[in-house]
Amino acid sequence: MEEIVKTTCPYCGTGCGIDLIVRNGRIVDAKPSKDHHVNDGELCLKGMFGWEFVNSPKRLSRPMMRKLNGVYDKRGELEEVSFEEVYDFLADKFKSTVAKYGPNSIMGFSSARSNNEDNYVFQKFFRAQGSNNVDHCARL
Ligand code: SF4
Repeated sequence: MEEIVKTTCPYCGTGCGIDLIVRNGRIVDAKPSKDHHVNDGELCLKGMFGWEFVNSPKRLSRPMMRKLNGVYDKRGELEEVSFEEVYDFLADKFKSTVAKYGPNSIMGFSSARSNNEDNYVFQKFFRAQGSNNVDHCARL
């Protein structure tokens, strides 16, 4: 079964309208939404062709952490962990790094694929730690 799913391209903040062609629950093609007020029937290469990742078996769908003998170690193998374990680990790392090196020792690098509200909360989080070191991938 094939259907057209109207959506907004998530690749950048422009917000082009896309008609995703979905067959049996999988994206098989993408077309620019006709008469969309942002892109007026056009798409850039990312919006037109950048959809294979959605069905990739390599896509991360659960939190993973490298562990050796049950604890984090960058030389370890990736293991599936809970979100709670990741949050606790990150909170400890943030706190210990800021305590040892000061707030300017941490920085946040967000994504242009996140929405404005998520990016707002993201920068707010880093500024609350005392760091103004915040950027995102659209500047690369
Ligand atoms: S199609 Fe291109 S320009 Fe439009 S939102 Fe997607 S990435 Fe941005």
